[in-house]
Amino acid sequence: MTKPIEKPLPADEIISFDPATGEEVGRVRKFTSEEVAEAVEHARDAFEIWKRTPFDERARIVMRARQAILSQMDSIANLISREMGKPVAEAFSTDIVPVLDLMQYFARNTEDLLAPRKRGIGYLGLMGRSSVITYKPLGVVGIISPWNFPLTIPLGEAVMALMAGNTVVLKPSELTPLTGEKISEVFEAAGLPKHVLQVVSGDGETGAALVSAGVDKMMFTGSVKTGKAIAKSAAETLTPVVLELGGKDPMVVFADADLEKAADAAVWGAFTNAGQACSSVERLYVEHKAAERFTRLVVERAQKLRVGKGTEPDSDIGAISSETQRKIVEEHVSAFEREGAEILTGGNDSDVKSPFYPPTVISKAKNKMRAMRDETFGPTLPIATFKTESEAAELANDTEFGLAASVWTSDLAKGKRVAGKILAGTVCVNEVLYTHGIAQTPWGGFKNSGYGRTHGLEGLKELVGVQHIHVNRFTFLPDVWWFRYSKNAVDTFREMARKYASGSLFDLVRFLPSMWSRIRDIRRQGSEDN
Ligand code: NAD
Repeated sequence: MTKPIEKPLPADEIISFDPATGEEVGRVRKFTSEEVAEAVEHARDAFEIWKRTPFDERARIVMRARQAILSQMDSIANLISREMGKPVAEAFSTDIVPVLDLMQYFARNTEDLLAPRKRGIGYLGLMGRSSVITYKPLGVVGIISPWNFPLTIPLGEAVMALMAGNTVVLKPSELTPLTGEKISEVFEAAGLPKHVLQVVSGDGETGAALVSAGVDKMMFTGSVKTGKAIAKSAAETLTPVVLELGGKDPMVVFADADLEKAADAAVWGAFTNAGQACSSVERLYVEHKAAERFTRLVVERAQKLRVGKGTEPDSDIGAISSETQRKIVEEHVSAFEREGAEILTGGNDSDVKSPFYPPTVISKAKNKMRAMRDETFGPTLPIATFKTESEAAELANDTEFGLAASVWTSDLAKGKRVAGKILAGTVCVNEVLYTHGIAQTPWGGFKNSGYGRTHGLEGLKELVGVQHIHVNRFTFLPDVWWFRYSKNAVDTFREMARKYASGSLFDLVRFLPSMWSRIRDIRRQGSEDN
């Protein structure tokens, strides 16, 4: 297998290799740190015009870029598959379809989602005050993305940032640079003004240059290790960061679930994208009394999956994206065996040879095993058992990660109850993995899975600054807390603490006499001073 990461590369080029064949897919120029800084400067200039571009014009451009993707979707799906190994079917279902949906959603709805909103301010509202919350674009948004969903992650974030009025500098993964350049191509075809979106191809060094180039927000998706490095570097310039990091997502299957459906879901949730999804099922907990039947159903399904080149239409599982990634998978499977788990199908000795890794189902997994703790990011499905509802939630929460989780049961009340006990950014009941594909709902994690959100209103708000506009219509009255102070002022504030700040209308009415007396005092003092 060709080793895209390890291979010595010309210093100024990034070469994209097909992990299934080792063939070169293409090469792009690597941006120097100076060029990255220049791109950010250009983006800052472009922001001055873009932020004033009306929402409907922004939307028109996004919809034209969307059309450009639609018109070449077969070749884009093929490119994604060749650059990172996933089946063409998944390039469509998990990259192209979700991002096309996201594009139409944010093109049509951003203006409304970010419309100024009146905010209730309690009894101050009765005193002539009003508050409106407005949202302002931040400036230049830097995006650094991984290779596993090389279109939908960077393009989705770019569209949200652009619709919110920001300009964008995007650094795609070095494993999928051509898909990254495709993003700038479709926007160019759509007539996006120059420098509003720039793609700076390169590796970690290029990414680091972008973080320190003075962007106004950094959207990072990738590993915990890189996320920590980025947070540290961003702290130097107080650059705000959203970190979308790894996961070790649990799937909890109760005995009363539709076990056939749950087994279908487990197999897809663990093996889609060859298990290289941040929200892959990486730990499965099945209720003890259903374990035997459920495990058999899972193994039967896993054994039917066809492993092969992603560009062949009937491949279910494509190549692992890099040699580095494959080694981690092998190490984790060996660790499972060493620590007493049982490999039921697949595993390191399988007939299916490199660069592919067979779907591997493991039983007798325990949370203390190393490979139940570290992110594997490969086609493995370790199964453990539980006896009670509370044990299920405890096992699911026994992790440093908190990205996504799923609960399977025919009792929806129980499903929602257990979902509420699991600390993860998304918990599905009788569904698995796919919700990054919903544009309307927030995506992000707890604990080491990162902070901040992308997608949904919450994700959009990461890309704007919040401004509170507060208006007082009763300018004929002074505020009771204004100068000058006196014994009467202290008495009034004491009353204010007891009555006004209680939130009760009854108490507020009782406070009015001291308020009027204080206002009269302020006026009297004012006229004496004059
Ligand atoms: P990675 O951290 O190795 O690389 C991600 C990006 O960061 C790449 O573009 C890389 O060039 C860049 N980078 C590397 N070092 C950098 C540095 N010092 N400064 C700035 N940028 C740097 O991750 P990966 O292998 O591409 O992706 C896999 C990881 O991403 C997994 O852990 C997976 O769980 C996570 N992921 C998370 C989500 C999510 O939404 N939470 C989604 C997809 C992937």
